[in-house]
Amino acid sequence: MNDAPMRGPDLEAVRSRLIHWYDRHRRDLPWRRTRDPYAVLVSEVMLQQTRVETVLPYYVRFLQRFPSASHLAAASEDEVLRLWQGLGYYRRARQLHQAARVLVERYGGQVPPDPEAVRALPGVGDYTAGAVLSIAFDLPVPAVDGNAQRVLARVFGVDEPADQAAGRRRLHDLARRLVDGPRPGALNQAVMELGATVCRPRRPGCGDCPLAELCVAARTGDPEAWPVRRRSGRWVEEDVAIAWCRVDGRVAVVRRPQEGLLAGLWALPYTRRRDGEGWLEARDRLAAALEAAVGRPLRWRRATLQGRWDFSHRRWHWRLFLADDAGERPEGPAGGPAGGRGRLQGGCGASRPAGRPATGDPSTADEPAPPRVPTGSDGAAVAEGLAPWGSAGEGGEPSPSPAPARPLRACAAATAEWAAETITWVRLADLERLAMASLDRRVLAAVAGRGEGGPRGAGAGAAERRD
Ligand code: SF4
Repeated sequence: MNDAPMRGPDLEAVRSRLIHWYDRHRRDLPWRRTRDPYAVLVSEVMLQQTRVETVLPYYVRFLQRFPSASHLAAASEDEVLRLWQGLGYYRRARQLHQAARVLVERYGGQVPPDPEAVRALPGVGDYTAGAVLSIAFDLPVPAVDGNAQRVLARVFGVDEPADQAAGRRRLHDLARRLVDGPRPGALNQAVMELGATVCRPRRPGCGDCPLAELCVAARTGDPEAWPVRRRSGRWVEEDVAIAWCRVDGRVAVVRRPQEGLLAGLWALPYTRRRDGEGWLEARDRLAAALEAAVGRPLRWRRATLQGRWDFSHRRWHWRLFLADDAGERPEGPAGGPAGGRGRLQGGCGASRPAGRPATGDPSTADEPAPPRVPTGSDGAAVAEGLAPWGSAGEGGEPSPSPAPARPLRACAAATAEWAAETITWVRLADLERLAMASLDRRVLAAVAGRGEGGPRGAGAGAAERRD
């Protein structure tokens, strides 16, 4: 523990001004009306990387359905994910669920006032542990989120980069010293509240700040220069083909793997474009897996709409491809999507069925782009980027790609993102009951809006946020 001499303003002066300000200006939020450690834990997990306004309805619904760790522990993961749907970062939901089970198994369903035990709960890091322990039990444990980092870096003029270990250690040490006094829970919240409402990343409201006279950064006239950062954030950009595949009144969905992005959620079948691959080739890989599941060729259209979806460090540029059964009927329950899981009839290595030619060289045979949508949220993309179903190159005609038929790739290789065994055919009315990510909800809403049979109201509750 570092107790080196302090630079910057007097801690006691910062403390008293913060508490005074917090008692008068804090927002009235539901999780601030309780000191139930479980409720505090739920709120802190939901608030990780998520805006307060987004969390509010989710928190209320979640606590109504799961008022204690015991209630949450007894629920199925599917139900937990459904309640979390639209809030994003679904790994949090899974870990909170696991944490509730640990609390029931080891601590009688109660959160113990023990820093080691709380930190050992699934999904609970230093920040969440500090918030729960200080707010619920008034223990002097720091809670340093991004808002707190910014406030502390500015007030104390911390020059070590906040995104490197030395800077994080320094900020954590400042926070530890700050809460080592009366009302540590209120102090932690005061710092975070100031960062959220006054000491904003851009244009901080120094004129309204209780710390203005003490703040090192404000005195320089350029408070936005703090916190210092070394690393510039970089997006991982990916192109993703998504299929709306409707056969015999049912729509294909797949289950994402239990690890990784949007783990365990249901999704419309999708695949990332590979290096050097055209959009139609990516679509054909989707088609290979889905047609193998149905056991016969389907009618595929060109991309009908496209959009962009931002995750925390990943950006998907997606295009939606529509497929249906071209008026033919499946050959009975085993031959198609009459219900339940898809069947891999004909084997994954079967020849590509006649009637849907393969795509040729992606550099020459790839399709023209659907209408370019304005930059902005995915909601805007869906609303404005739709092409009419019957426009040129679509209209329900098979793709005119001239390449000869060729063998299907093995199903497992066709779509590395999900297992072919998870292809499931669901009725439109049941789509809404699946735990799906906001991206898929948006696409469903767009499909519904075009009269292609997506569930009415799908996506209506999806928050405008990143997953
Ligand atoms: S004075 Fe300005 S920069 Fe300093 S903590 Fe307050 S709002 Fe932030």
